[in-house]
Amino acid sequence: MMVHEDVICSFCGCLCDDLTVEVEENNVKRVKRACRLGARKLMGHDRIKAPMLRQGTKLEEISYEEAYNKAAEILFKARRPLLYGWASTVCEAQKGGILLAEEVGGILDSTATVCHGPSIIGIEEKGLAGATLGQVKNRADLLVFWGCNPAEAHPRHTLRYSSNVCGKFTPDGRNCKKVIVVDVRETRTSKNADKFIRLLPGSDYEVISALRMILAGKADLLPDVIGGVSKVELISVIDLFKSAKFGAFFFGLGITHSRGRYKNIDNAISLITELNSQTKFIMLPMRGHYNVAGIGQVAAWETGFPMSIDFSRGIPYFNPGETAACDILAQQDADAALVVAADPASNLPRAIVEYLAKIPIVQIDPFENPTTLLASVVIPSAVAGIEAEGTAYRMDGMPLRMKKLVKSNYPSDEEIVYNIIKSVRELRSNAEIEGVM
Ligand code: SF4
Repeated sequence: MMVHEDVICSFCGCLCDDLTVEVEENNVKRVKRACRLGARKLMGHDRIKAPMLRQGTKLEEISYEEAYNKAAEILFKARRPLLYGWASTVCEAQKGGILLAEEVGGILDSTATVCHGPSIIGIEEKGLAGATLGQVKNRADLLVFWGCNPAEAHPRHTLRYSSNVCGKFTPDGRNCKKVIVVDVRETRTSKNADKFIRLLPGSDYEVISALRMILAGKADLLPDVIGGVSKVELISVIDLFKSAKFGAFFFGLGITHSRGRYKNIDNAISLITELNSQTKFIMLPMRGHYNVAGIGQVAAWETGFPMSIDFSRGIPYFNPGETAACDILAQQDADAALVVAADPASNLPRAIVEYLAKIPIVQIDPFENPTTLLASVVIPSAVAGIEAEGTAYRMDGMPLRMKKLVKSNYPSDEEIVYNIIKSVRELRSNAEIEGVM
């Protein structure tokens, strides 16, 4: 039996790097310290067995070589292909994806477009007072969770990095920390809070603005109730903020996707900036998929833009509202899609999924999901962090290297993407020889 220590979990943006994994006869037999979400992924489930091509209503097995050629043909022939997903794969594959998007003149977008995309735009406008999760663990004595529910979405966040962990300057753990949860409903996270602020749906912007006014000494200009929260309650929140030595403000989709979108984040960044004139405060988005932060980083190095990048002009062009996955699918502009490590059939609006079902889709994923039912070509890949190594970015922007734990016959996402690029280049060179281009 092989015992691997300090294994990184490739499920959520916490990228917990303290797991022990026992491997016997090339199978993961036991996972220690992971939460249930992470353990289920590491133990393996519902794998796609072989590459498949849709013939009528059925998917039939083909070879990898045939799958690469078919995928290349679909993307090469498309007028406006969309290359979507990239959140649950490693940076090396993401880099190949950008090259492929350039080769086929497509649009590359990540799942961030329907999660923390507004946060990214807000941060681009204002900047971000960030920190590593290590700093939060060791220093933060006040934790704010706004529009997020780590108890269910990032189960070890509070235990490893935030409210319930002992740090160098917070040796008593939860006993020396205060937790404020702001949400529109009670959650398991709010049950662990010292103060739960329940606001009306869509009133984040107003409530943040009210907090900024109280901080600026203008509470007397506010009405008695703002966004369903009493002014007295908000004054007590500001008192807690000001009394903290180090505050950490974590935010999720409850604020990025409520009315106001990126302006909510813009406003929250201003609040954190203003708090920093009185104490120390940082702010971090709760990123969901394990490397959704990585695609933003890789895309930004390679193109200057973090998501929704259109290569059809021969240079990268970025204009969410026009070039995001939902925009080009809603306008029925995309005529083919490559979906890598994502499940748009489950996560995009229904009308968009109905259109997606009408165009050819190439899916690259280790696991079957509802998008598999729509796909024309399915290419199974090795699971990164278990069957393939690679780099991923934790939610705080920290790059971590994931190891390969077991041998696999599946190719990695990176290998698959580069094989499709090779086939696209062959198609182009044949077309040039035949004078078709
Ligand atoms: Fe994995 Fe996230 Fe659970 Fe950590 S909290 S073990 S990264 S799923």
